[in-house]
Amino acid sequence: MPTTTRSSGRVGERLRATSKVLPEHARAHNRSLVLQHLFHEGPTSRADLARATSLTRVTISDLVSVLIAEGLVEELGTRPGQRVGKPAILVGLRGDAFQIVSLDLTDAAQMRGAVISLTGQVIERRALDVDGRTGDELTDLVARFARLLVAQATCPVLGIGVGSPGVVDDRGRVIEAPNRGWYDLPLAEILTDRIGLPVQVANDANTAALGEFTYGGAAAGMLLLLVGLGVGAGIVVDGIRVHGVRFAAGELGHTTAVDDGELCACGRRGCLETVLSTRALRSAVEGKDPTTADADLAEVGRVLGTTLAPVVSALNLAEVLLSGPADLLDGPLREAAQETLQQRTMPAVSAGLQLRMASLGQDVVLLGAAVLVLSAQLGVS
Ligand SMILES: [Zn+2]
Repeated sequence: MPTTTRSSGRVGERLRATSKVLPEHARAHNRSLVLQHLFHEGPTSRADLARATSLTRVTISDLVSVLIAEGLVEELGTRPGQRVGKPAILVGLRGDAFQIVSLDLTDAAQMRGAVISLTGQVIERRALDVDGRTGDELTDLVARFARLLVAQATCPVLGIGVGSPGVVDDRGRVIEAPNRGWYDLPLAEILTDRIGLPVQVANDANTAALGEFTYGGAAAGMLLLLVGLGVGAGIVVDGIRVHGVRFAAGELGHTTAVDDGELCACGRRGCLETVLSTRALRSAVEGKDPTTADADLAEVGRVLGTTLAPVVSALNLAEVLLSGPADLLDGPLREAAQETLQQRTMPAVSAGLQLRMASLGQDVVLLGAAVLVLSAQLGVS
């Protein structure tokens, strides 16, 4: 049961709801308020749930009864060290009620997948070689891989989340992912039809940003730069996941960063991707002595800082997160990028701005894909 309302043309989607809404959406919204609180704060009494959500005790009691009947929530006894009076029974999310299947399609050579608990524990992981498949063959392989992962789950599967490269709309249609041969492909719909479970598909960098927001403690105003074969960004502003009018928000990889730079796969020259992709970074440092390699990485950092400065200023972000190989990103590159950002933005923007490595490492897209499902099915993010 999706609890987020979706309509075309919206710039984004509010994450982590905190207040009441119109009556027609109230039930789903209130349900997500309760689940949200239990997800982030842990076991809570009904009275404290009422206080935290501003809902009445009666509404909370009804909602909790329904959630217990659905197997999502359980009673956990009383809090130890309770003061005088009738001890309140705590209710909490049942971590073992459901599992989520996540797929990370970022790597062109190998897709990664996992079975993940509602609390973000990876229970099982698998990888599958793509062997150069693209187009329909790749779609078939993704479906087979998803089915194999569903079979590994040890309790009912809440849904399947997929982080895909390319531009993906809010219904899980891949508008374009050129190097996968996917154009206007309704991937979420195809997988739902074949597997019979709810499927969410989103751009991989957006998915990674969601993973860091929910499981990595990232700020509600942040940009995550996913650095791999390509370079993409996911953006959260004031707690809203930014899609953009054509669902291409965050496509920073193909903004021109170097005048008369190298030819890019997109046909233009000097895109950020031509200096910041892992392949570009590896070839920039290969065979060089450490001092020269560090200087070259710092130069890329300055290019990155220059590209990010207007973005960070326009959105007044609290954090920029880098996700990718730490041996290349976390050092002279990151330091030079931070310094350049500081130099090119006014103090009101850059004061306290953090440019740091993402905290979830290799699992960032897989965990984000789990949040796609949590968000769509339970209203939790
Ligand atoms: Zn390009």
